[in-house]
Amino acid sequence: MILPQGIKKSAVLVKDGIIDAVWDFVPDDYKGPVTDIGNKLLMAGITDPHVHINEPGRTEWEGFETATKAAVAGGITMLVDMPLNASPVTTSVEAFQKKLDAANGKLFTNVGFWGGLVPGNADEIEGLIQKGVLGFKAFLTHSGIDEFPNVTETDLRKAMPVIARYGLPLLVHCELSDPLHISNNDNVQSYDNYLSSRPEKWEDDAIAMMIRLCREFNCRIHVVHLSSAGSIAQIAAAKKEGLPLTVETGQHYLYFNAEDIKDGQTAVKCAPPIREKENNDQLWEALQSGIIDFVATDHSPAPPDLKQMETGDFMQAWGGISSVQFALPVLWTAAKERGCLPQQMAKWLSENPARLVGMQDRKGRIAEGFDADFVVWDDEKTFTVDASGIYHKHKITPYLGETLSGVVEQTYIAGVKVFDNDDFIGKNGMSVLGIV
Ligand SMILES: [Zn+2]
Repeated sequence: MILPQGIKKSAVLVKDGIIDAVWDFVPDDYKGPVTDIGNKLLMAGITDPHVHINEPGRTEWEGFETATKAAVAGGITMLVDMPLNASPVTTSVEAFQKKLDAANGKLFTNVGFWGGLVPGNADEIEGLIQKGVLGFKAFLTHSGIDEFPNVTETDLRKAMPVIARYGLPLLVHCELSDPLHISNNDNVQSYDNYLSSRPEKWEDDAIAMMIRLCREFNCRIHVVHLSSAGSIAQIAAAKKEGLPLTVETGQHYLYFNAEDIKDGQTAVKCAPPIREKENNDQLWEALQSGIIDFVATDHSPAPPDLKQMETGDFMQAWGGISSVQFALPVLWTAAKERGCLPQQMAKWLSENPARLVGMQDRKGRIAEGFDADFVVWDDEKTFTVDASGIYHKHKITPYLGETLSGVVEQTYIAGVKVFDNDDFIGKNGMSVLGIV
């Protein structure tokens, strides 16, 4: 069992969906049922705070049923849906209600929601908070969705004092594009051309701006999907200063390197892009030293034509990687190679992301009083990703054909087994989190 103090042989007593006690062994006078998981690892359920479900409005891209089914098969017991790319986008109370209606009865795992911050919707912030969003998401560059425009510093200056008052996080896609940047467009299938179209500097400039505003407004800032190692030093300095700044990176930035990506392999297109090995080695170091807080999938699917699977056109392809189901094995495969331990996985996938969501007193650790949400996984076993074993809507993922270490065998939510080796044990009345 992976406990906050390390890996130990132990037993956990669950009562009414809550961890009632953690024992070194099952006491002789205990008469209740016992499930023995042998040498498998019991870890607190995974929280993925960065998932694009796209329903309503773009349900042909992904939906609540398929995304949450894939999530639970991956050991994810709580996910938070992004305010785009559904239609309408979650930037008003009215749109949030539509999203809640769309989610109703379709959830295989617990789901929370981020609200969207766009130019002109500062008046909706308090209403969205009262309705239960867990924080806000904003872009500093074009989001890919026209109805979700990016904010400017002026918009942030209006919104950040309000968000700060409620102690909620503002998640920011950090790229400040420079219209004068010239990239090579001679070959649209070239990954190098795509990579050079979104330089590190865009991320580094955006992060510098958010650190400055974080200091000024004392508003929690969360940098989503950090890709540029060029920002590690400024993030470390801001954290040392005590600013309320947290950072995530994505599995794909830790698993792939630009040098290995083939031209036309658009399944790996994401923004910011996957960079070179030297950069990614530094991301690994920053994760291990705690400068990067955790890892989230940024599951962002699209149909095959929009991913330009046929044409291999990186410039036209939708930027987004489908991977929610493989959060654990992808990270473990790469982590194991670097000599990391399963208890680090628990920090990066369960404990630290639960903190971003404000659920640090209920989720992310195996400890008395916490929700009995667990993933049982085998750290020794391997499997090869095959389209038939993928539960999200489109069987497109850059991990197709990859052999990964770490097999999710069971998932428990509130003490109830909801997934068992490819069997789903019902939707189990999963709830929407944070709704007041
Ligand atoms: Zn995203």
